[in-house]
Amino acid sequence: MRGDDPEFDAWVDRARAGSFELAAQICGFKPAKGQEQRNDRAGPCPACGGTDRFAVRVDKRVFNCRHCGARGRDALSLALVGEAVSFVDACEQLTGEPRPSRTHDETPEAREARLERRRKAEAEALAAAEKQARQIEDARRRREESADYVWGDGADFLSTPVVGYFAHRGIRPLPHGVCNLRFAPDLAYWHDGRVLHRGLAMLGRIQGPDNRTIGVHRTWFDEIFSANRPKGRPDIVDPASGELLPTKKVLGSKHGGAIRLVRGLDWRGDAPTGFPGDMIPPVRLFLAEGIETLLSVYLALWCDRSPLLDRAAFWCGIDLGNLRNIKAPRPIGEVILLGDGDSDPDDTAAALDRAEESFIAQGCRVARLMADPGKDFNDMLRGEMAMPAAIRSEETYP
Ligand SMILES: [Zn+2]
Repeated sequence: MRGDDPEFDAWVDRARAGSFELAAQICGFKPAKGQEQRNDRAGPCPACGGTDRFAVRVDKRVFNCRHCGARGRDALSLALVGEAVSFVDACEQLTGEPRPSRTHDETPEAREARLERRRKAEAEALAAAEKQARQIEDARRRREESADYVWGDGADFLSTPVVGYFAHRGIRPLPHGVCNLRFAPDLAYWHDGRVLHRGLAMLGRIQGPDNRTIGVHRTWFDEIFSANRPKGRPDIVDPASGELLPTKKVLGSKHGGAIRLVRGLDWRGDAPTGFPGDMIPPVRLFLAEGIETLLSVYLALWCDRSPLLDRAAFWCGIDLGNLRNIKAPRPIGEVILLGDGDSDPDDTAAALDRAEESFIAQGCRVARLMADPGKDFNDMLRGEMAMPAAIRSEETYP
């Protein structure tokens, strides 16, 4: 573009030295949320898309795309990334001055060629985004298939060490009707691409609202229980950080899903009769974060021969934040949220608030039961069965 027109060249030089901030706006760069005011910003490339491949350092006046190689150190080059505007328009916007002569106007042919390049770049970016979406979907399906495989490979948990694990956790005898759990005798614990542990594990089938298996919840537990490990779970150490890793993990998805541990009991008279299952649609849902918590409450009610168990279902929502995503199937009209007292009280209360709102919006009545501060319901079950009086009072419930 440099030629025999010093006035024009000086105008272009002023555009190059123009505001980086303005140049980023001209090319249509949209930084990631929260980075708009920062000196270093990342976001989709105006030329080739993506999510965070394009970086702009406003203070150092540099920009770089790690995908298409767009890079530079002046405002004009930045304004022209993706060719949203013509060269002359970019100079005009950056300098705030009209072009000094008409000799460098964009010709109709140049304009058509520029727009054609831009259309092509947009089509490529769209195709790349679609490809990425397909890859994400494929990965999700593969994880679901692995979850299906792990679940399918498990053995029914009754008469397996899972019952011993529950007994070690004070959940004994195990009331009937517990389902959707299986046992894996030699389940690998993968972390960062390697197996850190193999051993006994309890599997929980996570079902989505459409009843499909979307994931499997895995709890590794000890082969030999000892009093100094009251939770009955192995120490699995991250060799990189030396930190203890969680002994519960989800394979596949958990969003909106639940482990339907007890699907609905028929409790007429003073003992449950018949078989639990889909034949008796539940009207009351007990919902907790963890399997052990939920079964502790179930056992306490069972020992009390509580009438609350009639047509009750017990679902494990895997984590607190997920409770709000769960859909209560008809005819469930009552939901009892069980909150542990051993996590941050504010976080727990906030998560339960959101779950409560969600179930009210679904037309359910909602009650909330909290374990004592610093404890979960399993701790309370093991402390001489001192479950809160509330759990035994029908007035607590909707
Ligand atoms: Zn790019």
